[in-house]
Amino acid sequence: MERIAVFPGSFDPVTKGHESIIRRALPLFDRMIIAIGDNGEKKSLFPLEKRLAWLNKIFAGDPRIEIDCYSGMTVDFCRKNKAGFILRGLRTSSDFEFERGIGQMNKLMFPGIETVFLLCEPEYASLSSSIVRDIIRNGGDVAQFVPAGISL
Ligand code: ADP
Repeated sequence: MERIAVFPGSFDPVTKGHESIIRRALPLFDRMIIAIGDNGEKKSLFPLEKRLAWLNKIFAGDPRIEIDCYSGMTVDFCRKNKAGFILRGLRTSSDFEFERGIGQMNKLMFPGIETVFLLCEPEYASLSSSIVRDIIRNGGDVAQFVPAGISL
C-alpha cells in the first residue's frame, strides 16, 4: 500500500523550518500532501491563495508532493485522501505536549492514522510563523527565515 503522509499546518507564512521538515521526511513516504488548514477561527495574516502559491513554488517539480487545503478535521482530510500518516515537527517540549493531545485524539477518531514526529534541526528551534509575522508587522527583514525565492 502506498505510504501517504499529510503535513498539515497554517503556513502563515511558510518558513525554512517547515521546508526542512518536509524535505527530511520525504524519504519516509511515497507521497506527501502539504495541506493548509483553512481554519475559520484563526485569522491569517496572508490569504490562502498566497500561502498555496508559495508552497507550490517551493516544491514545484517534485512529483511526490501535492499542495492542497482543507477545512474541518485533519483526520477527515486524511481519510478522504487515503493517507495513513500525519507528519508534524517538534521544536520544544511545549510543542510535544500540544501535539501529544492532538495526536492521541486523532488516533481515537481514526485508528488507521499514525502521527510521525520529526525533531526540528537545531538552527530552526526558535523559528515560528508567529515570530516571522511579528517581524513583518514591525517592518523587519525576514528573508533569512523563509525559503529561498519566496518574497512576502
Ligand atoms: P499549526 O498552526 O498547525 O501549528 P504551523 O504552520 O505553525 O501550523 O506548523 C505546521 C507544522 O510545522 C507543525 O508540526 C509545526 O510544529 C511544524 N513547524 C513549525 N515551525 C517549525 C520549525 N521551525 N521547525 C520544525 N517544525 C516546525
